[in-house]
Amino acid sequence: MSAEVIVAGGGPVGLATAALLDAAGAQVEVFERDHGTGRRSKSSYQRILMCL
Ligand SMILES: Cc1cc2nc3c(=O)[nH]c(=O)nc-3n(C[C@H](O)[C@H](O)[C@H](O)COP(=O)(O)OP(=O)(O)OC[C@H]3O[C@@H](n4cnc5c(N)ncnc54)[C@H](O)[C@@H]3O)c2cc1C
Repeated sequence: MSAEVIVAGGGPVGLATAALLDAAGAQVEVFERDHGTGRRSKSSYQRILMCL
């Protein structure tokens, strides 16, 4: 894949940004330095991240 946009960080903001760019037709790649996403979230963000 040749990404047009690289998003650094797979937190809520990074994933939402990537999803919006993808929906707009951009080739997006997300780089996350840690394993998984949303490790801090225990409540509201967990459901949002599942949607993303
Ligand atoms: C201790 C704590 C507990 C919290 N608990 C909750 C909760 O229970 N419920 C809730 O709704 N909110 C909670 N929050 C708030 C929530 O975590 C933040 O509001 C939210 O994560 C901010 O999203 P973000 O995408 O801006 O940043 P982050 O979630 O911090 O995401 C940024 C990501 O970028 C990655 N990153 C950074 N630098 C690089 C790099 N150079 N290359 C690649 N990846 C990189 C990081 O690893 C990280 O995953 C908590 C916050 C803290 C500090």
